[in-house]
Amino acid sequence: MSIKTAAYAAKKEGADLESHTIERREPGPDDVQIEISNCGVCHSDLHCVNNDWGFSAYPLVPGHEIIGHVTQAGKNVTKFKEGDKVGVGCMVDSCQNCKACNDNLEQFCPDMVMTYASPINDGEDFTYGGYSKRIVTDQKFVLSIPDNLDMAAAAPLLCAGITTYSPLRHWNIGKGDKVGVIGLGGLGHMGVKLANAMGAEVTMITTSPEKGEDAKKLGAHDVLISTDDNAMEKAAESFDFLLNTIPVAHEIDPYVALLKYDGTMCMVGAVEPMPGFDGSSLIFRRKTVAGSLIGGIKETQEMLDFCGEHNITCDIESIKMDEINKAFKRMEEGDVKYRFVIDMSSLNE
Ligand code: NAP
Ligand code: ZN
Repeated sequence: MSIKTAAYAAKKEGADLESHTIERREPGPDDVQIEISNCGVCHSDLHCVNNDWGFSAYPLVPGHEIIGHVTQAGKNVTKFKEGDKVGVGCMVDSCQNCKACNDNLEQFCPDMVMTYASPINDGEDFTYGGYSKRIVTDQKFVLSIPDNLDMAAAAPLLCAGITTYSPLRHWNIGKGDKVGVIGLGGLGHMGVKLANAMGAEVTMITTSPEKGEDAKKLGAHDVLISTDDNAMEKAAESFDFLLNTIPVAHEIDPYVALLKYDGTMCMVGAVEPMPGFDGSSLIFRRKTVAGSLIGGIKETQEMLDFCGEHNITCDIESIKMDEINKAFKRMEEGDVKYRFVIDMSSLNE
């Protein structure tokens, strides 16, 4: 038995998304069935539609910033009941046995199953994401959404939120730290809000001077235009931590130069080979270039609760399901403030 579910899919690499029907499994004893109210549009969705990372599977139903209400809970489900406000992020399963799972870092489990385009059932099938009416997910991978947070504006927390929260926590960012967030898009705008809420002094580092005013409204104390060589030179050796969300390969030396000695730049954007860098810039000042992938389920819940306490949500533009192809184009051109979120009531069954 399976549940027919309306969705939007790319039928082949790089294709426009179109209406498509998928099958969801009947909820098992540990499963939660969720009626999706909203789904955020992450730049990764576009990367996967275009098969930029080589592991996409078609028809591809993207979407890993999923929010909705529980409509059914299996008999072993203790964490949730019908009507609860819940979310699903980038992962829907893992082995629950390995060191990474035991460390609450399921994102590093070798058997981690991503919310979409991940093989399941011994490779017979693959997962479908949140650009759809409903999803059935093991309760271990379902998150509780604080009551005070707006559903649509909370959706992007499930990926953009945790991807920026986790490195800020891992590198113990707080009062007294000078943090630069590079790239003001979906991830970057959350990075600014979260670093600010953690007490850091935040600078938005952007290629777009016209975003400066917005960056300050989001909580940046300062703005640095990365295409302004003089300003970049003046800012040399002034940051403790940089969160780099640039979505494509780029030269890192100009950004590494901004770090103080012992500073770290954490890459979360460009999931691809990068051009070389000058070793002396790291060696002579003991600098680190690091990376980070989303965050574990425990930390994702911690991030959601933190956002609930501090009343933090995303700045979004709500779109209808059939506006998705236009939204992808606008995202590619950097024309989004700062996350598109699909209103799933616009998708008819
Ligand atoms: P987005 O909304 O498109 O924002 C990216 C921002 O980066 C742009 O708004 C722009 O900001 C800046 N930018 C774009 N192209 C640039 C270039 N060539 N040089 C310098 N800056 C550039 O994307 P997003 O949704 O935030 O995602 C960012 C990246 O993170 C994507 O590659 C996505 O796949 C990845 N991601 C990673 C994880 C993870 O776990 N590590 C999770 C989610 C997403 P300015 O105009 O301010 O310069
Ligand atoms: Zn994402």
